[in-house]
Amino acid sequence: MIHKEVAQIISISKNMVVLTGAGCSVESGVPDFRSPSGWWNQIDPRTVATVKALETNYPLFHSFYTTRVNHLRKILPHAGHAILARWEQVGHIKLITTQNVDGLHQAAGSSHVQELHGSIKEFRCHSCRKATDEEAFVNERPCQCGGKLRPSIVLFGENLPNDAWQRSMAAIESADVVMVIGTSLQVHPVNQLPFITKGKLILINAEETGQEDRFDFFLRGKAAETLLLIQHYMEK
Ligand code: NAD
Repeated sequence: MIHKEVAQIISISKNMVVLTGAGCSVESGVPDFRSPSGWWNQIDPRTVATVKALETNYPLFHSFYTTRVNHLRKILPHAGHAILARWEQVGHIKLITTQNVDGLHQAAGSSHVQELHGSIKEFRCHSCRKATDEEAFVNERPCQCGGKLRPSIVLFGENLPNDAWQRSMAAIESADVVMVIGTSLQVHPVNQLPFITKGKLILINAEETGQEDRFDFFLRGKAAETLLLIQHYMEK
């Protein structure tokens, strides 16, 4: 059974990197972007998570992100997040690099996390970049400079944080295993990251991404369920 084989590989790994996407948070109740069921209020979020929307349609941008911020207050990490935190504690995982902005890996206890698309738990002015807080954003207060407040996430059309990118590249290059969880592998340039490794490549995803041939193992399934099954075999 493929899960057993993957469990054996992880058991001896001391250098694993995990790359996660929106699908890794779905079982916590956070919708993803590409599954039609993940779309918010009939709006395709990919048209709102943009610099253009922020600059030309702030009411829509603000309402979309206020809904997300409020929703995330009630969200907790799931059993899969806890398993990843445990694998870090026992020395299998050296880094989680994530496209998610929800902070669920840190909430579950992982401490080596790079946020490639920023964090929705932090806020700043779009114009002068001065840091602000959630309350000011939700209440639509303008910055002292007159600029618009926004979450400190990477919108479509913006560059990735260089430090997180460089650290993730270095870790993946030297990893013995790279596990990719819950991403459609469509968002550039993160979709290129896994393939710079010389280690074993494992993909866990609820559906095919079209990239399965590039992985050593494809475990089709939900993130938490699949991680629980792997953990079960590691304990046998
Ligand atoms: P995506 O929505 O493009 O793809 C998610 C993938 O996860 C899909 O292939 C889907 O089949 C799969 N999936 C859905 N449920 C799953 C589950 N329970 N277990 C495993 N796989 C599951 O997501 P992406 O590739 O991460 O790109 C979307 C962009 O939107 C990213 O830039 C990300 O920053 C942002 N985003 C973040 C969050 C979050 O922070 N939780 C949520 C939505 C979108």
